[in-house]
Amino acid sequence: MEDILTKFRDYCERPYERAAQIKATRNTKIIGCLPMYFPEEIIHAAGALPVTLFGSDEPITLGDGHMMTNACDQVRSSFDSLLKGKYDFLDGIAAIYICDQVRFYLEVWQLDHPVDFFHQMWRPYKLDSSTQVFFRSELERLISSLEEFTGSKITVEKLQASIRLYNESRAMMRKLNDLRKDRPGIITAADMARIVASSMFIPREEHNELLGQLLTKLEQKEIPAGKKQRIIAVGHPCSMPETEALDLIEENGMVIVNDDFFTGGRYFSKDVAASGDPIDAFIDFYANAIPCTTYHYADIWIKPDKNYSPYADYVISLMKDGQAKGVVVLKEMYCDPYDMEFVLMKNRFEEEGIPYISISSGSLEAIRTRVQAFEETLRFV
Ligand code: SF4
Repeated sequence: MEDILTKFRDYCERPYERAAQIKATRNTKIIGCLPMYFPEEIIHAAGALPVTLFGSDEPITLGDGHMMTNACDQVRSSFDSLLKGKYDFLDGIAAIYICDQVRFYLEVWQLDHPVDFFHQMWRPYKLDSSTQVFFRSELERLISSLEEFTGSKITVEKLQASIRLYNESRAMMRKLNDLRKDRPGIITAADMARIVASSMFIPREEHNELLGQLLTKLEQKEIPAGKKQRIIAVGHPCSMPETEALDLIEENGMVIVNDDFFTGGRYFSKDVAASGDPIDAFIDFYANAIPCTTYHYADIWIKPDKNYSPYADYVISLMKDGQAKGVVVLKEMYCDPYDMEFVLMKNRFEEEGIPYISISSGSLEAIRTRVQAFEETLRFV
């Protein structure tokens, strides 16, 4: 089993190596997708390989000359990677405007480093019927520009086959998540994040094969009941949490039994319907998305007396489902959508008496002290 986990770790260590290999040996277009929510299935149905761009752990040395230093780390690090030539293997770029920072980033990218295919699309921020007609036209626009770029017709049958492949992937990830709820510690939270993230770097067919092998081994593995405190972890709406921070939490008396990371539960929580009209299926998928900090719940925000957050309620439901005692919020520095939502979430936690801790990136030693103190408070819950 360790050998399979090592492969997933290697993919995260060198995220673009496999895509660059494919580019060198096959006639396959490689399309970089900015996280999050891009319908990768549509790129797959065009015969191209979608690769999610997360930036890197390296210090930012070039990016800050082009981007505001108070942009989030995901955006700055990704632009730094672009300037360092790490994305040179890409044939094109596709991204959804999930927040203002991504929009600015894309504008600078398009001006500074134009690529052959540069597709930006809108996703409704408001989840109601008024946005669905517009979103249909955005999906149709994406399909025609991919067809033109790849020279491959995206038929209904191809789209349904790609949706089925990605649903299979999501179903296996859900199974893995269920295993860690039932047998906490069966897989570390850091490996869980790596497994989900690596699915976005390599061909999905290869990832499904490897994940299927891992699940077979894990299902046979017994884990003695432990005494660690069950918690959930949330945050990083479109980036990968620092695996060192996840390890630190799990080395200090706690075990993460569920999460709401982009490289976690947020990515695999729902399927796209594989039957019927695929465009309808995508509209339904987005319109009925799980609560997210990047959506606008206008009827809630405009009423000053309301202190209600669908996202906070979603997090609380994850916690109850995982029989967890508390929540660790791992924040991406300068992520405006998450910071705004965090105020409402914090209020809800306090109303419900839910223990929580919020951690931003920083020195691991400083984080260790806070994590240890949090674990001690959980002993009295
Ligand atoms: S959602 Fe947050 S972390 Fe993601 S790009 Fe926007 S500001 Fe950055």
